[in-house]
Amino acid sequence: RSQALGGNSYQFYSSEMNIKALENLAMASALHDAIARDELELHYQPQVDLASGEIIGMEALARWRHPQHGMVSPMVFIPLAEETGQISLIGAWVLREACRQNKAWQDEGLPPLRVAVNLSARQFCQRDITAIVAQALADTGLESRFLELEITESMLMHDVNATISIMQQLKELGISFSLDDFGTGYSSLSYLKRFPIETLKIDQSFVRDIPHDKDDSAIAAAIIAMASALGIKVIAEGVETPEQLAFLNTQKCTGMQGYYFSKPLPSEEFAQLLRQGKTLDTSS
Ligand code: C2E
Ligand code: MG
Ligand code: MG
Ligand code: MG
Repeated sequence: RSQALGGNSYQFYSSEMNIKALENLAMASALHDAIARDELELHYQPQVDLASGEIIGMEALARWRHPQHGMVSPMVFIPLAEETGQISLIGAWVLREACRQNKAWQDEGLPPLRVAVNLSARQFCQRDITAIVAQALADTGLESRFLELEITESMLMHDVNATISIMQQLKELGISFSLDDFGTGYSSLSYLKRFPIETLKIDQSFVRDIPHDKDDSAIAAAIIAMASALGIKVIAEGVETPEQLAFLNTQKCTGMQGYYFSKPLPSEEFAQLLRQGKTLDTSS
C-alpha cells in the first residue's frame, strides 16, 4: 500500500495515529479532572407506558461538558474511561447523582419514578459493585425500588454463574434490571430467563425502520410477543415517528423511549416535564 501511494504515505498515516493517541491522552487526563471540576452531568429521558401514555420512568444519560470541546458524547468518553480504568470513579458518580436527583424530585413532591442507570461491562465486573450500589442508595436515601440498572447482553455471556450471582445480590437490595440494546447480541429469550431481568429494551436499530422494513418489523414483533409470553416488559428505544408508535401499539409493546415523546433533557427541563404532567397521546 505505501509503495503505490509513494514513500510518504506510511509516515503520514503514522503521524496521524500519533496525533490521535495524543488527543486520547489529553482527553483521558481531562476526564480525570472532570468530576472534580464538576464538568459531568446527567440528562434524563422519559420512558412512557404505551397503555396509559404516562411517564413511568427515566433513563439517566451521562454528559461531559468539556471546557474546550463542548458537550462530549458518552459514546466517546465512556469507552475511554473503560480503557483507562476511570470508569469506576465515573460510574460511582453517575449512580450516586442519579439516586440523589431522583430522591430530590420525590422530596419535592413529584410523582415517584424509577431511574435507570447504565452499567458498563467493567463496572459490572468490579468486585464491590453491590457495595457501591448499596452505598449510593444509603447516602442519598433513595428507596431501592426506584433504581434500575441497565446491562447489555454481552455482559451476560462471560461467566454465567458469576453473573447470575452478582445480579441476585443486587436484586436482593431491591433494585431491578433491564437489558439494554436487546437484539444486537446473540442471546435467545429462553437463555435470558435464567437471569433476573424485568425489562428488555429493543435496540433502536430495529425500531428505526419499522413499519416499512419487514424484517425489522418482524423482529420487533417477535421480541414483544415472546417477552410478553415470558412475563418480561419491553421498552422500544429510539421511537421517533407516529408510524413507529402505531406499530408498537398494535404489537402491544409495554413501553417506549424516544425523541417522539422527548429527547434526553437537562435535569431542570425534565422536572418541568414532570410538573406539567406531560403524557403521550397514544390514540394515533
Ligand atoms: P443507550 O443506553 O442505549 O442510550 C440510548 C441512547 O439513544 C442515548 O444516547 C439517547 O440519547 C439516544 N436516543 C434516545 N431516543 C432516541 C431517538 O428517538 N432517536 C435517536 N437517534 N437516539 C435516541 P446517548 O445519550 O448519546 O448515549 C449513548 C450511549 O452511551 C448509551 O446508549 C449508553 O450505552 C452509553 N451511556 C450513556 N450514559 C452512560 C453512563 O452513565 N454509564 C455508562 N456505562 N454508559 C452510558
Ligand atoms: Mg441505556
Ligand atoms: Mg440502548
Ligand atoms: Mg446503545
